[in-house]
Amino acid sequence: MSLILIIDDDPMIRKMLMTAFRKKNYDVMDASNGKTGLSIFRSEDVDVVITDIIMPDMEGIETIRELRKIKPDAKIIAFSGGGSLSPDGYLKIASSMGAQYTFQKPISIKELSKAVEDLLDS
Ligand SMILES: [Mg+2]
Repeated sequence: MSLILIIDDDPMIRKMLMTAFRKKNYDVMDASNGKTGLSIFRSEDVDVVITDIIMPDMEGIETIRELRKIKPDAKIIAFSGGGSLSPDGYLKIASSMGAQYTFQKPISIKELSKAVEDLLDS
């Protein structure tokens, strides 16, 4: 079974995504910030990371950079509702840091699942 790691500071979004992906028979772990997410990534055999961008403690751009250092071919999806930059601005940076897929909030589970499937197939 593939393991998905969800990193988001919003507990509602984590809960929604965990429920949706568990229904699709994925193993799912979650973290409320990049720091915790990275420690899970180091200790577990994570197949796909889905990360928010704006978070306290360690935000998503730095998280993506660290994930790439740990595992250069990590499969990463980033999403954002935006902060001081438009969501599009953050997602462009996320993409340049190596996120293979980026999405704006609100999240479409359908699109997100498709991206996870594509990454797992690649
Ligand atoms: Mg956030």
